[in-house]
Amino acid sequence: MKNIFGYTREMLENYFINMGEKKYKATQVFEWLYRHNEYDINKFSNIKKDIIDKMFGDFTTDFIKIEKVLEGVDVKKFLFRMLDGEKIEAVLMEHNYGLSVCVSSQVGCNMGCRFCESGRLKKVRNLEAYEIVEQILLIQKYIGKRIDSVVIMGIGEPFDNYDNIIRFIRIINDAKGLAIGARHITVSTCGLVPKIDEFSNLDLQVNLALSLHGATDEVRGRIMPVNKVYNVDTVIAAIKRYIAKTNRRVTIEYVMLNMVNDNLEDAKSLAKLLKGMNVYVNLIPYNETRNIDFSKSSKERINKFYDYLIKNGINVTVRREFGGNIKAACGQLRSESD
Ligand code: SAH
Repeated sequence: MKNIFGYTREMLENYFINMGEKKYKATQVFEWLYRHNEYDINKFSNIKKDIIDKMFGDFTTDFIKIEKVLEGVDVKKFLFRMLDGEKIEAVLMEHNYGLSVCVSSQVGCNMGCRFCESGRLKKVRNLEAYEIVEQILLIQKYIGKRIDSVVIMGIGEPFDNYDNIIRFIRIINDAKGLAIGARHITVSTCGLVPKIDEFSNLDLQVNLALSLHGATDEVRGRIMPVNKVYNVDTVIAAIKRYIAKTNRRVTIEYVMLNMVNDNLEDAKSLAKLLKGMNVYVNLIPYNETRNIDFSKSSKERINKFYDYLIKNGINVTVRREFGGNIKAACGQLRSESD
């Protein structure tokens, strides 16, 4: 049996067509699930009894569970337990422009970025699409409000779980689903080039963010093992193809690690690398973690780096810091409660 929250409307249409029914039934099901928050298939009153019976045999509406919620200022961290007992986290952020959720895409992560806490536990498995959709549904229910935007920047590398991520995006973006606008959805990748290319062919206007963190192979290679497979030139070439194809601006994430990648030399290399590209750089103040030997760049070093980029015509912002005190910040999410 399959969990119904992992089905896009198109998949449900095919399901109904295959049983000789009209495909608009899929829209009715979506409306029950995502408009009326009705999760009991028996109560889908505009669907005939024999179809309901069949659906019962084919689908579950089981939910993952909220195990714990930690509340900070403008931020809440949710620890979820999957049906098989695995645990992941998601974070709710209250911006002045709306509510945003950062979801996890995998249990653990295999990318091994040296500075990131989430990667300390190797990948156990991918999350299914329904497990990602339900992170949003449960958070909405918990706070009693609608989520405005979603970033796929929690635990895991989304492009290492591509098909489930795309399904998740289609479900939350669907006008009959959660109707979260594509421009309010951002996928962040450490740079898996074949998937960046695949993503550029997608019929959705979703935002793409690249975790670059180093403008030369020397610097990036030291902190991101993925650079051995897709180095700086290769990944930037893929981003250029993506921009050429989609005409969309890409976010370049750059975590500021004291004396590792935050020197003026690094700013110079970065400005040179990105010159003329339709990108904006998001400088991320490093969130120090318990176990790892990196430290946060000082405000002065961040400002100097920022100023250099601005002066050299690169769009740049500094990411607002969220959730440090409850270990809910970027790179601090783990699969287990601690
Ligand atoms: N795997 C994806 C998404 C998860 S991480 C990716 O690599 O993009 C989301 C962002 O937080 C990434 O840019 C990541 O490099 C960054 N990050 C990881 N650890 C961090 C830390 N301790 N402080 C600040 N940012 C961190």
